[in-house]
Amino acid sequence: MQNPLFPADPLGGYLAAKAEIDVAVARVLASGRYILGPEVEAFEAEFAGYLGVGGAVGVANGTDAIELALRAAGIGPGARVATVGNTVTATVAAIAATGAEPVYIEIDPATMLMDPAALASVLAADANRNIKAVLPVHLYGQPCEMPQIVNLARAHGAVVIEDCAQCHGANANGRKAGAWGDLAAFSFYPTKNLGALGDGGAVVGTDPALLARVRRLRQYGWQTRYVSTEPGRNSRLDELQAAVLRVRLCRLDGENAARGRLADGYRIGLKGATLAVPTVAAGRTHVWHQFVVRTTARDALKAHLEQAGIHCGVLYPVPVFGQPGYLQPVRLPLTEQACHEVLSLPLHPGLTPIDVARVTAAVRGWRG
Ligand SMILES: *Cc1c(COP(=O)(O)O)cnc(C)c1O
Repeated sequence: MQNPLFPADPLGGYLAAKAEIDVAVARVLASGRYILGPEVEAFEAEFAGYLGVGGAVGVANGTDAIELALRAAGIGPGARVATVGNTVTATVAAIAATGAEPVYIEIDPATMLMDPAALASVLAADANRNIKAVLPVHLYGQPCEMPQIVNLARAHGAVVIEDCAQCHGANANGRKAGAWGDLAAFSFYPTKNLGALGDGGAVVGTDPALLARVRRLRQYGWQTRYVSTEPGRNSRLDELQAAVLRVRLCRLDGENAARGRLADGYRIGLKGATLAVPTVAAGRTHVWHQFVVRTTARDALKAHLEQAGIHCGVLYPVPVFGQPGYLQPVRLPLTEQACHEVLSLPLHPGLTPIDVARVTAAVRGWRG
């Protein structure tokens, strides 16, 4: 049997930069500063510069980043937040943690991202303007249709908070994902395109008042040390993770380019196969966090590939509104169909063109 292939490879990501990461970690260990010190400050500045936004605030994880961004923008009990159902539960857990309620928007089946036309009709039906925020999810590495989504939200008086957990470095119309909304939330979970060696997250934006509020909320509501001006949380990024992220940020564009070359290999290799391959909308770049194919016989194809040592992911098998913890009586046929059909082929910067050829051959050899 050939070596197994996996959807992601966090150990490989560490080993690829081991010498530099080990130096960075040793530097932090020897410094005596382990929480909110010079590494977090430097990473915040470097990440904001990379994205072209005014500032970044390191937090404990991506879920907290979404929650604190919403709360900083004034979202809480009584508010409704427009998002999608085909996302990780975290997106909706963060909305619920603020006391607000999710409103699910249908997806565009071509990209599996929030459909601006569906958003427009939901906003038009929201006569009392209870929808106070729009939370698009840049799923799989491709940004949503941001110019339209931002315009629709603004016209409705709603803020835009981007869920950027899967699209570090992607562009929409020449602007980075994360630079469109009032605030944007990133996760640095180890398997993300920019991954830490543990949990991490960041809220980014340009409005100084919003960023200052996120800074207070991440640490007990402190305006200055020992003086809270509002209730807050503990959600801090630590120095070790920040030091690792500084190393990995320097490699992000190169690793995204490597993902792009592998994705091109898949798209060429799967031409004419009996399944749907992902497309990239005009004006956008895709950073290939996931390479997601679609087939009505998804589970059979997944089992077939597993036989060949090719392990695939399913992001996500059940829409959030269909999960017992977040159940809502929602019918969104295109979202539900996507959840039944999606399959993530192995894709991470450690794969080779030979691995991709092996996967495409296995897919083509499948009689579904
Ligand atoms: C990973 C992820 C999150 C949550 O991030 P955590 O760091 O695990 O809390 C939120 N949204 C999306 C789309 C994600 O992929």
